[in-house]
Amino acid sequence: MLSVMLKLIYILILAGLAIALFLKAEKQKRLQRETDKLRKSVDEMDEQAKLIMRTDMALNKTQEELDKKITGLYALQKLSRSISTTLEERQILKRVRGDFLQELGFEKACALVWNQREAKFSINLSIGYLEDEAYKIKAAVDAEKEKYLDLIFKEKTVSSISLSQDTGLNEERISTVFKVTAFVISPITPKEGNKGFFFLGTEDPDVAITAGDEELITILTNQIGQAIENARLFEKTWMAQQELENKVDERTRELTAVLNEVKLINKRKTDFISSVSHELRTPLTSIKGYAAILLAEKLGALPQPVKERLEKINSHSDELVHMVNGLLDIARIESGKAVMKIEEHDLKAIIANVMDLIFIQCKNKNIDLTAQVSKEMPSIMVDKSQIERVFINLLANAVKFTPQDGKITIRAEVKKDRTVQVDITDTGIGIPPDGLEKLFGEFYRVDNEINQQVKGTGLGLSLVKHIVEAHKGKIWVQSAPGKGSTFSFTLPIR
Ligand code: ADP
Repeated sequence: MLSVMLKLIYILILAGLAIALFLKAEKQKRLQRETDKLRKSVDEMDEQAKLIMRTDMALNKTQEELDKKITGLYALQKLSRSISTTLEERQILKRVRGDFLQELGFEKACALVWNQREAKFSINLSIGYLEDEAYKIKAAVDAEKEKYLDLIFKEKTVSSISLSQDTGLNEERISTVFKVTAFVISPITPKEGNKGFFFLGTEDPDVAITAGDEELITILTNQIGQAIENARLFEKTWMAQQELENKVDERTRELTAVLNEVKLINKRKTDFISSVSHELRTPLTSIKGYAAILLAEKLGALPQPVKERLEKINSHSDELVHMVNGLLDIARIESGKAVMKIEEHDLKAIIANVMDLIFIQCKNKNIDLTAQVSKEMPSIMVDKSQIERVFINLLANAVKFTPQDGKITIRAEVKKDRTVQVDITDTGIGIPPDGLEKLFGEFYRVDNEINQQVKGTGLGLSLVKHIVEAHKGKIWVQSAPGKGSTFSFTLPIR
């Protein structure tokens, strides 16, 4: 019994030990799993930290590049503005300032321009070089001019990082000649004007040229090229304008001289007409007087044929007096001796008055005479009696040259330039084109049937023109044979 009990206890202890061992093993496994997980997490965190560091470095680099680009763009903008402030070709390259170039990372620069006539380069800009250094650079470039010209011709920007073998230029040699460690060479190629290239370099070994630098410098040289082109264009336009101005001045001088001569001749003509007319008036008055005495038979009765001849003398004298008076009027207005009594007048009243005066003549030929005057017609500033003469002359002509049953219309309207335009239109015989120009000159009469029958002086329209022009107005005519005529003139309003 005791041994059975001992065995049982022994088994129980063994079982307990086994369970304890099992539980420990399980715990160890769990711990192991946790440890593995932790290690993995640590590894992952390590990877992430490395990634963050890499990204940070990349970001810093991009930021640096961006900063450089922005600085470069600012410098470029300042340079462009400085270049575009001049339209003088020689001044353009001089506007490239060293401090702006330094912002681009270069402390040395020069511009060499190809002079076709002398087959040589010339230095138009040098920054960061002494005079003899610049001279040596020019000599070295001239020595290899074909290679540089080829570069200019190809319009290709090269730099110490991109200079290829096919240019024939050697990076080391350029660095020695221009005394730099890194450089950019960009051609300046205006369509008109001298071509050349722009050299930019630095002695700073820490400055690394990038493709972005080449791009920026290419933009700059393109702008310099454009500015040179603009300057040329401006110069051309300016020269053309100067030439034109000189020509205009010369022509104006010539024309003024001719005009003065014409004025002088005209004055002489007016003076001559005026004095001859005066001289004619006195004998004419006596002829008329003596004819009147004779016709009144105060000196004895006259036989009929003598009476008829005397009546002819009388009527011809009347015509002569009419002509002489017309000539004197024209001469007086032309010389400015006629005093114009400019006053405010109602155009409607003037038209009504002249219509009354011409009414009988119209009635005799059954001509329909009408007037159309704008409702809002302001007062006109004229010498009333002179303007009435204008109307009477034009209307009398219209009646004279319009056949039976015709129509005459007077139109008056206000124009935008603060004048009144009057049109007198008839349905008469019209005027041939070659007569239109001479119509307002003295003594001109169209050779037609009416003029052959009815007498006239050919002075009416000349007088009308002088009166209208003395009022600062214009007069013109539109007409064609068989189509009637329209005489138009302008008058000033208040
Ligand atoms: P005159 O009437 O004394 O001949 P004007 O100077 O008034 O002189 O006119 C010159 C010429 O212009 C006239 O002879 C005539 O040939 C032409 N003329 C003028 N007005 C008219 C008109 N309304 N229609 C046709 N011809 C005209």
